Amino acid sequence: MISTSAPLCPNQTTIGVFGSGQLGRMLAIAARRMGYRVATFSPDKNSPTGQIADQEIVASYSDASAVRTFVQSVDVVTFEFENVPISVAEIADEVGIPVRPSGQILKTAQNRLREKTFLAEAGLPVTPFVYVTSLSQLHSALTTLGAPAILKSADFGYDGKGQVRIDSIADAERAWESLAAPDAVLEAFIDFTCEVSVVAARDMMGNFAYYGLIENQHRNHILDLSIAPARVDHTISLEAEKFTRSLFESLDVIGVLCVEFFVQSDGQLLINEIAPRPHNSGHLTVDAAITDQFEQQLRAVCGLPLGSTELTRPAVMANLLGDLWENGEPNWAALCAFPTCKLHLYGKEEARPGRKMGHITVLADTIEEARKVAIEARQSLAVS
Ligand code: AMP
Repeated sequence: MISTSAPLCPNQTTIGVFGSGQLGRMLAIAARRMGYRVATFSPDKNSPTGQIADQEIVASYSDASAVRTFVQSVDVVTFEFENVPISVAEIADEVGIPVRPSGQILKTAQNRLREKTFLAEAGLPVTPFVYVTSLSQLHSALTTLGAPAILKSADFGYDGKGQVRIDSIADAERAWESLAAPDAVLEAFIDFTCEVSVVAARDMMGNFAYYGLIENQHRNHILDLSIAPARVDHTISLEAEKFTRSLFESLDVIGVLCVEFFVQSDGQLLINEIAPRPHNSGHLTVDAAITDQFEQQLRAVCGLPLGSTELTRPAVMANLLGDLWENGEPNWAALCAFPTCKLHLYGKEEARPGRKMGHITVLADTIEEARKVAIEARQSLAVS
């Protein structure tokens, strides 16, 4: 359904953000630059988003009265994190505050079974999967899909959390016990040639814009490098765009959403997952695109026209994980000696291994050059 409600303009609008991590932080930076007010709601104090927002509400998502007071104080509600309980969107709906993208989309994306079932029913290519709620079902799913396979908890999974690889049927019991989830999805292990994503947006008039294909390299199931444009055949880009457009129409998305794909050796694409919000692989748009993914999100959720997604130069983004803090504070001065390297830190107090603390982006004339500088710049942070 395409709405014609009046746009929510800068200088007179407060954006309400559920979740308070780095995605909300970068959304808040874009919002404040454009003259929007930002309020964030999450259980955390002095959060990455809260440090930038005009207002930081610290309360539980299950505190219905705090959620109601919050949504009454903002003009539009959005999410920076999809594991926020759906009840908060329902409260906003009751109060009559627009929720964009809708709570229905959040509900679909926050559970792997609902997500994959929706994708399959929409005729989109999805990694083969079987729903599993017991060890005996896991055994029969492994017989159907074969090994290796990946067992993923149905709820609350991200960055490889809540996943176990199973190399043979003999591993099933250990995997089921270590996952310790009431229900799960067993996925065929895909021997992909590369991973790519499409970060795209759709506005309230139904216009669609996307950043072209981004290539993603993971380490330990966590995004390590993103490269734009992706080094894949043009036909693969066109195919990914076609699937993404179709997905946006089927879900009636208003806002930014990312689709992650596996590219198989025959060039066929499979959707790994979707994220109904700006995405880590789109962070390079902050430095490389005319309109970055966070401004695009604001434009879409506020009912404004989308901005240009043109990338000004080839770009590489490298994540900075908490592991870099192992021997103390990284060497920021060494990093700044790379004049084309842009640093983004998220204001997180505690650096834990695997935790996303920030990222760097490098633009260059070629991807090879940008990649080389990004890797060297990140290595320069190491202290012994
Ligand atoms: P996820 O949290 O499900 O996006 O998984 C994180 C990463 O784990 C993916 O980006 C892949 O690198 C890897 N992965 C997840 N599922 C599969 C699969 N079915 N086959 C092969 N690799 C996978």
